[in-house]
Amino acid sequence: MDSMNDARILIVGAGPTGLTAGLELARRGIVPDIIDRKEQASTLSRAVGILPRSLDILRPSGVTEKLLEEGIKLENISLYRGRTEAFSFSLNGGHPNWEFGLALAQDRTESILHDAFVKYGGRVKYSTELQDLNQNSENVFVTTADGMRVEYDYVIGADGVQSITRKALGIDFIGFDLPETWSIADVDAPDWENHDRFTMCMLPGGKVVVVAPLERTRFRVISNTADALKTLPLRMHAKNIRRKGTFKISIRQVANYSVGRVFLAGDAAHCHSPAGGRGMNLGIADAAELAGRFANNTLDGYSVSRYADGKRTIAASEQIRKVVASKNPIVRGTLVLGLAFINQFPFTKKLLAKRFLSD
Ligand SMILES: Cc1cc2nc3c(=O)[nH]c(=O)nc-3n(C[C@H](O)[C@H](O)[C@H](O)COP(=O)(O)OP(=O)(O)OC[C@H]3O[C@@H](n4cnc5c(N)ncnc54)[C@H](O)[C@@H]3O)c2cc1C
Repeated sequence: MDSMNDARILIVGAGPTGLTAGLELARRGIVPDIIDRKEQASTLSRAVGILPRSLDILRPSGVTEKLLEEGIKLENISLYRGRTEAFSFSLNGGHPNWEFGLALAQDRTESILHDAFVKYGGRVKYSTELQDLNQNSENVFVTTADGMRVEYDYVIGADGVQSITRKALGIDFIGFDLPETWSIADVDAPDWENHDRFTMCMLPGGKVVVVAPLERTRFRVISNTADALKTLPLRMHAKNIRRKGTFKISIRQVANYSVGRVFLAGDAAHCHSPAGGRGMNLGIADAAELAGRFANNTLDGYSVSRYADGKRTIAASEQIRKVVASKNPIVRGTLVLGLAFINQFPFTKKLLAKRFLSD
């Protein structure tokens, strides 16, 4: 390999992290291979919220422009105690470039990232599953499920929470699992009143239900109960339930984001609850930093830098989750009163908006 531009790089996983890594490398003239075990691009959405940092990162490639064309700008958050709106606040002033969080279904975000990667000369090879890898000081040897063995200079594991890359490296995924079951429903509800905002309803016993727009009449309902739609205390006529399910949450992070020539990014390196909507955004930031470090030949600093950012983001998400899902009515009451108080003054209001829109 004469220069990094000649490097043979494999990215495992074509989720938002892998696609961003591919796109950001290809944009700099280093076109990697991307493989994904799925047969085709996903039509299911997990992440909804795209934060200002991601919009800044994806601007040079033209992706942000497309995201803005399709996404819904969320400029307000409404907080309910049961059926009563406790208060609503604006995100204006929360970021110098973007005064909103953008809501878009993850499958659409992935599709836009994919198209941009293709535009820069990339191609995703679907139905190709990483089975194992090992490395020496000069190469990484990758084995796929169809028995192929291919040699690369570097590998980026962006293969999600159950990462085979991470397992092959023998890296521990340190943390814990939350005991409760969470639920999700994606619905068409043309008459949903809060269609332009993020709605959070706090219910007794530490229960919480959140509604976020995916499209003008399509919404995501998510809750730390077994049935998000049943738990929602507000009136919503769901005309069509596109998807309904339950899931468990883990709070975990690796201590090392790289071993030798193999790097981890996105959910392969960290996971946490959807509180704060940070997971996909953190993966996009990992991917963009890694691509930049490939181009600048500063790969050594990647692990320390991303570990610190991940730790900070997980702590922030956990802080939100613990307060909004607290079973202690005094903690929740204090939250509502505190936020309502802060929301009265322009300066503190701006700080609150910043808190929600920051990385
Ligand atoms: C209900 C829910 C709501 C969420 N909401 C938000 C939100 O609002 N905002 C936010 O920022 N985040 C949110 N998240 C988190 C977000 O969805 C994830 O952080 C994000 O998808 C991680 O992206 P990724 O590319 O790292 O991993 P993934 O999206 O999991 O992609 C990994 C890819 O790797 C592929 N793969 C796996 N193993 C292999 C293999 N062995 N070989 C080849 N390919 C493989 C998979 O097929 C997949 O395509 C939410 C998560 C959940 C569960």
